[in-house]
This record gives sequence, structure tokens and C-alpha cells, in this order.
Amino acid sequence: MGIFGRRRSYGSPKTSPQASYRPLDAAPPKKGSPQAPTVQGAACRICLSDEGELITPCACRGDSAHVHVHCLARWARSVEPRVDAWRRCGVCLTTYGGAGAVALAEEFLERSLRKESHYIPAARHALGAALLNCGDSRAAATLERALREKRSYGEDGPNVAAVLNDLGIASGEEERFREALEIYAHRNMLETKDAACARLNLGNALCRRGRYREAKHEYERALSVLTQMHPGNDADVAKALGNLGVVSDYNGAYDEAIDYHKRALNMQRAVFGRDAVTSDVANSHENLGVALGHRGDYVEAERHLETCVDMRRSLPSQNRAVVRALAKLNEVRVRKARECPQAPQRAPAASRVAALPPGVVLPYLAGPL
Ligand SMILES: [Zn+2]
Ligand SMILES: [Zn+2]
Repeated sequence: MGIFGRRRSYGSPKTSPQASYRPLDAAPPKKGSPQAPTVQGAACRICLSDEGELITPCACRGDSAHVHVHCLARWARSVEPRVDAWRRCGVCLTTYGGAGAVALAEEFLERSLRKESHYIPAARHALGAALLNCGDSRAAATLERALREKRSYGEDGPNVAAVLNDLGIASGEEERFREALEIYAHRNMLETKDAACARLNLGNALCRRGRYREAKHEYERALSVLTQMHPGNDADVAKALGNLGVVSDYNGAYDEAIDYHKRALNMQRAVFGRDAVTSDVANSHENLGVALGHRGDYVEAERHLETCVDMRRSLPSQNRAVVRALAKLNEVRVRKARECPQAPQRAPAASRVAALPPGVVLPYLAGPL
């Protein structure tokens, strides 16, 4: 069964990952204009100039949303020997993303190499993580090298586990997460967030290999640790719920999957705000849309996948994810037209789901340095 409409133009030109890193305005783009307009009056939050390329590398919004890469770099140099400024916003505390994060990490690494400082492995890890975040294929080799460097500096603790975690995501090797978990177990740190995240990533690796029972087991263990740490609403708990939803979907337990995804989405709305546009929220809409499609609820499925596509188009570094979501949306539309041509109504469950692959499980990047 094919996926139709792949060649249709959707109004927004294809852009390179670099070019897709365009600023997001504090105000949402006007309805009917898929491209956010060039932000008017935007200025760098550090130098206050509006000249040159401005980026929005973190969760800061409003007057603080925009900044120059070189201004961030100047600030990071000024607070040395603190190194987290190269990788994380000091105000909103989110890890930098997109092309800006890569540029900053490159400068951090170049500077560390020039000074032969002991931050070389940390800088290499920052670069690998930033590349990974952009879906850049150089990530695995960079992280591999960071791992060797960290070990050559005699490190064998949580810092190494953090590189192993990111390397596992980049390379898809299940063994990396197990190595990371061994380090956490050895140091009595299995009940920490970082260990829970490595476990979730291990679950993802197992899920990709079709080992759904084992994957579910890892997700459940991670969820129990995260829930103990955050009994209320929390972004990581929401991710874990989403991953459990995906594995349920793979197992054909669509009602269970839909329930997990709805819980994840509600939790994200409580954490990020009702109208927040983040890749986590987009992911929940995608996964929920797919599970609803599998159950045969095509009308509702279409709505969630449309929301997902809209969100991904307004986020940086999502080109591939947009294409993937569009393929799923088209598949749901094809089925809807076939199964319920008259009015929007619930159709019988689809007999074959091969052309509508279950949603995506979310990787967990290690925290800042
Ligand atoms: Zn500036
Ligand atoms: Zn920020």
C-alpha cells in the first residue's frame, strides 16, 4: 500500500536544515501564512542590535528571544571557567538547539584545543550533542571521539555515562545504554533522572529491534523512577508515557496506546502551556494521530496529524520530521476516503497497519555538561 501525495507541494519551499533555523516570533504566525513573517523589531538580547543573523536558540521568548551567535560566544568566554554557558541558556536553562548550538560548540572546541585545556572532551561532547540534535550524521563519530578523550583523561563516572547515552542515540547501539546503566548502577545512581533517561533510550533501541516486551519493561522501570522524582506534571514523565504509548501501538493495543498518548499530551499542556508549540507536543500529536488511525478513528487522527505538521513546520530543524508526519497524514487521508467516504464517522479498525508505522519514540539527550 503506497503513500500518496508525496510529491504534492505544500506551499512552503524545501529548505536546508541550516536555512530552516529561522527565528520564531513570540506571537504565533498569522493563520493562513505557513511561513512565519520576518520578525519585525527583533533585536539581539545582548548587544541590542537588529543587524546580522539573529537566532532563537533556547526557550526564551519576547524581547529575549533573539540573539547573535557571536554575542552568545562572547558571553560564554566572559564567564569562563564556567563552561555550561557554551551549551545552555543561563536564563531559561534549556540546552541550545539548532545551527546556533553547533556554531557555539565548534567555537568552544576550537578554543579548548587552542588552549590545550582540559575541557576538550566536554567541548567535543557538546559538539556531538549539538550535531545529534540537528540530525547531523557527523554526530556519532564526534561522540565516539569525545568518549575516547574522556576515558583518556581517566574519567569513568556519570560524565562518561552521559556521552555513552548520546552516542547510543547517534549510533543506535543498544550496548551503549547498557554500558551507561552499568556506570550508574556501580555508583548507586540508578534512581536518578539521567539513569532513567538511559533506560528509556535502551527501551527505544529495543523497540526498534522489535523486542517490544523488553522495551515496555524498560519504559515502565524508567517511568516509575521519574514519577517518584516528579509526582506532578513533568516533561520527562510525559515522554515516558508517550514511549509506552508507542510500544502499546506496536503491540496492537490501540486503546491503551491512545490512552497513554492522551495522558502525555495533557501533561505537556500542563507543563508547557495549552498553546505551546514544541517538538515534544508535536510528537504527541503525531503518535496520537497514528494510534487513532490504527483504531480506525480517521477523522480524529487526521486532526492530530494536521496539528503535528503545522507545529513541525514552525519549529527549527524539523524538515525530515515534517516529511514523515506528512506521509502519515496522507496515509490517514487515503484510508479515511476509502473507509468513510460519506460523512466523518468511525470506521472499522484497519486490518493492515504496515503502511502506517507507529509513532516515534523520543530520545533523551544527556543534560548539559
Ligand atoms: Zn548581538
Ligand atoms: Zn533562554
